[in-house]
Amino acid sequence: MSGCSRPSTKIIPVTMAWLVLIGGTTLFFVFVIPYLATKYGPLVVIVHSLVTIFVLANFSMATFMDPGVYPRAHEDEAHEDDFHAPLYKNIEINGTTVRMKWCGTCQIYRPPRCSHCSVCNCCIESFDHHCPWVNNCIGRRNYRYFFQFLLSLTIHISIVFSSTLIYVLDHRLYVTAPHCIVSMCLMVLIGLLVVPIFGLTIFHIVLVIRGRT
Ligand SMILES: [Zn+2]
Ligand SMILES: [Zn+2]
Repeated sequence: MSGCSRPSTKIIPVTMAWLVLIGGTTLFFVFVIPYLATKYGPLVVIVHSLVTIFVLANFSMATFMDPGVYPRAHEDEAHEDDFHAPLYKNIEINGTTVRMKWCGTCQIYRPPRCSHCSVCNCCIESFDHHCPWVNNCIGRRNYRYFFQFLLSLTIHISIVFSSTLIYVLDHRLYVTAPHCIVSMCLMVLIGLLVVPIFGLTIFHIVLVIRGRT
């Protein structure tokens, strides 16, 4: 992984994503869940705790995992320089010709679907995109966790929104009470996030169905 590092200056979006996710979920568990547990039984708490754990586990994997960094040439191996290395090199793998493109930064020929990330400054296998919200590339190794995170996050915010709506409707005579104000703020927060999250999830479901990952 030499030469491949994620810039510490870009941690603001990922820190905000973690704060919103942890903060919003904590408010939900403190203010809304206890009421739902008395109304519908303890199963509500168990199910939603499991969903939350799944969301956080997949978010952690997408954030902290190696996305599939293509190893760089060592200094002594990197005998070709940008001026002398041809841009493409064809190699034969199991009878099929594969076109490899030269990466001047990593000093390697990279296989198809491997791309250089300018943020991480390294080549990533099956590069999907660099996600600022996890401050990591999404590639061969962590795509599955990123996808599972999007799916579970969609379920998570749907449950939080509908549960909070039930709570507010049941307490509509006390809308100025602190619990109700917090609940309504939570619904506004989800209202702001729902379009980008649902949009991204549907986009990736379509990609997975088409087998483009
Ligand atoms: Zn590269
Ligand atoms: Zn990257």
